[in-house]
Amino acid sequence: MNTIESNTNEEKRSLSFVEQLVEDDIAAGKNGKRIQTRFPPEPNGYLHIGHAKAICMDFGVAENYNGVCNLRFDDTNPSKENNEYVENILHDISWLGFKWGNIYYASDYFEKLWELAVWMIKTGKAYVDEQSSETIAAQKGTPTEPGVPSPYRDRPAEESLALFEKMNTAEAVEGSMVLRAKLDMANPNMHFRDPIIYRIIQTPHHRTGTKWHCYPMYDFAHGQSDYFEGVTHSICTLEFVPHRPLYDKFIDFLKDFDHTADNLQDNRPRQIEFNRLNLTYTVMSKRKLHTLVDENLVNGWDDPRMPTLCGMRRRGYSPESIRGFIDSIGYTKFDALNDVALLEAAVREDLNKKATRVSAVLDPVKLVITNYPEGQTEEMEAINNPENEADGSHTITFSKNLWIERADFMEDAPKKFFRMSPGKEVRLKNAYIVMCTGCTKDAEGNIIEIQAEYDPISKSGLEGANRKVKGTLHWVSADHCIKAEVREYDRLFNIENPSADDRDFRELLNPDSLTVHSNCYVESYLAEKKPGDYLQFQRTGYFMLDPDTTPERLIFNKTVGLKDTWAKEMKKN
Ligand code: ATP
Ligand code: MG
Repeated sequence: MNTIESNTNEEKRSLSFVEQLVEDDIAAGKNGKRIQTRFPPEPNGYLHIGHAKAICMDFGVAENYNGVCNLRFDDTNPSKENNEYVENILHDISWLGFKWGNIYYASDYFEKLWELAVWMIKTGKAYVDEQSSETIAAQKGTPTEPGVPSPYRDRPAEESLALFEKMNTAEAVEGSMVLRAKLDMANPNMHFRDPIIYRIIQTPHHRTGTKWHCYPMYDFAHGQSDYFEGVTHSICTLEFVPHRPLYDKFIDFLKDFDHTADNLQDNRPRQIEFNRLNLTYTVMSKRKLHTLVDENLVNGWDDPRMPTLCGMRRRGYSPESIRGFIDSIGYTKFDALNDVALLEAAVREDLNKKATRVSAVLDPVKLVITNYPEGQTEEMEAINNPENEADGSHTITFSKNLWIERADFMEDAPKKFFRMSPGKEVRLKNAYIVMCTGCTKDAEGNIIEIQAEYDPISKSGLEGANRKVKGTLHWVSADHCIKAEVREYDRLFNIENPSADDRDFRELLNPDSLTVHSNCYVESYLAEKKPGDYLQFQRTGYFMLDPDTTPERLIFNKTVGLKDTWAKEMKKN
């Protein structure tokens, strides 16, 4: 916990290399000292914690330097995109606590991009290639060997123009033709070897319907879109480093084509790349996350085991803990694998401040207070959060018949067992000191009931009992509690870095990543709680109500344990 905190503070004191570049640009008076960034999700899936890292950067730079961050949906591939994703992306960004300036769509620029492509054809900078994508790939060469020019490379502009028009008709066959930029088949940067800039897709687009039949590739849309919007700093991840010269090249073409932009001479977006977030024991590739969902290997995008923001929200992670974690790992120019234990530590640190302390018994056994009058009840005060007095308190009902955790009792206990055991005293949290007097077993020897006697003058908060007892146990009253199901989660994958493994990633899934405790009891105060309320089940961990809850059955997700049990396991080994 301490390391996270000190890291966070350090991070605040020193600028990230991206912020340093931004400050240099401001100092040099670039773009009239204006700062504009964008977050550019493709609406083809749900956001994950890796996206949150990009969001924190894009929105953070805008916030810190009095600029604006817009959202731009990079919707250039209708075959995988839809409005459900758009809606959820908006929701997740708001949940993280960021506000965008405008919402833009790459599809808003299809007309302009088309005109630019036509101009490129007319000026000998692009041509229609009728070879298959396999052939084109085979002709690309290697970084040390030049590629083979397409036989269509030097076809007349009129021919390409007519075919380009044809590409944009309902009759065009996907894969039959592409438009390629005519750049340099020998360039050591493979992205310059006549990159494909338009391809035919006949799936209707979620915004433009069937207006278009061919669509620009990412490289032909991204930089231009940045330019159209007046983005000053286009911050992205390291895999785009080799794309940067192409990004700049297409903007050069755009300037030659569209002289109305001449007055914006120094207004060219600058691409800056930082390292992706990769987390241990999970995968971050959208393709793999899609597979997990589509093959029912998890229960949807918001399964609490998923690295998606909706999954983490459902599990009970707070937006502040995710942002705190991202702050603590920082931004560099080298890809690395981040330890999920750091994320969990950030979650604990934040929930410790936020969570309401409540009582819940996950593996119950009956405890009877034999000298407590039958039918009598008392309302005991339970402090909601010792870390925050303003959170107040609630009451929990005490009575003769209680539930406690099975693991809190031992008939023949070793010396250091400070929980319940015959002849020993413990405190029942917020209530009395009780002395265990014995237990009852069934025919198989299973303990079915524990007996104890309470000391009436030992009530919590009163002066009565001036002796100290070592153990304090949580409990709920058997007649004043609610039945509940608790879902406990472990790592989704069995190995630290499933993405670096040669085996099919599905074989690497942890078969025990979900444990359901179906026979739990929680105090009745929890009937008032909703998904989104942060809870601590005392002595157990942090929990959140799941939306699957019904009035008859409360369902809770375990967010994270109170301590890092994983680290303890590692030490033992
Ligand atoms: P895919 O997995 O299909 O390649 P993607 O994860 O890159 O897709 P996009 O919607 O294109 O998804 O991403 C939007 C932005 O989020 C991009 O700027 C991208 O660089 C950034 N981003 C995506 N994954 C990560 C990550 N793991 N860490 C940091 N930033 C990320
Ligand atoms: Mg991408």
